[in-house]
Amino acid sequence: MNLILLGPPGAGKGTQAKLIEEKRGLKQLSTGDMLRGAVAQGTEMGKKAKAVMDRGELVSDDIVVSIIAERLDKPDVKKGFILDGFPRNQAQAEALDRMLDDKGLKLDAVIEMKVDDEALVERIAGRYTCAKCGKGYHDRFEKPKKAGVCDVCGSTEFVRRADDNEKTVRDRLQIYNKQTAPLVDYYGRTGVLHKVNGMADIAQVTRQIEDVLGRS
Ligand code: ADP
Ligand code: ADP
Ligand code: ZN
Repeated sequence: MNLILLGPPGAGKGTQAKLIEEKRGLKQLSTGDMLRGAVAQGTEMGKKAKAVMDRGELVSDDIVVSIIAERLDKPDVKKGFILDGFPRNQAQAEALDRMLDDKGLKLDAVIEMKVDDEALVERIAGRYTCAKCGKGYHDRFEKPKKAGVCDVCGSTEFVRRADDNEKTVRDRLQIYNKQTAPLVDYYGRTGVLHKVNGMADIAQVTRQIEDVLGRS
């Protein structure tokens, strides 16, 4: 089963993608995570992407389309994949369609996660992740069971993203509304689009997504 999670920064795409990945054996493909990986490793691509990401703008279509094209050829996506943060504009969506056609793959569902702007800002301002295993947390909404210790791997080191500050968040939301939100209509025309209420708590959002997947 191949899915897209479509939603603004902070909507809960990464959180839900990891839960579905675990439950259904699908592979999460987050272009944001891959780009941050390239930045951390100091690759040529990472060097190009860093300043753009810090400003909250979109990295070039060529870069992200080639990352995804390569990724879809790896054996670990055979059972299916969850695209998280890609596509982000019309050109990327069209490139994805061509890519899937070429590889004989199809999309089973595009799940739009709707969350109010003020809630997004609060989610992003409180977001942090385990430095070792990448498990996501939130200062208020998703605390580790034992303060300061990762539930999954026991690490005591956590990181916050450079672009998760209030100024950049507002710019990212604007870019989302202008460039990414129109994809709701794009996928609406193909009959694979489903909406979930992303304002609900994490477990309730998972339930809504499971409902959709059960029907797709
Ligand atoms: P995205 O990948 O869409 O940018 P994340 O999954 O990283 O979003 O979620 C953003 C932040 O909000 C994280 O700190 C996460 O723990 C928290 N979060 C995710 N889903 C919910 C939810 N349904 N309710 C409250 N907080 C949430
Ligand atoms: P979020 O969903 O929380 O906004 P992501 O981790 O998906 O964050 O993306 C972080 C940043 O990485 C984006 O602001 C952008 O600079 C870059 N990025 C990620 N995915 C794409 C993409 N598909 N196209 C262009 N830039 C991207
Ligand atoms: Zn951890």
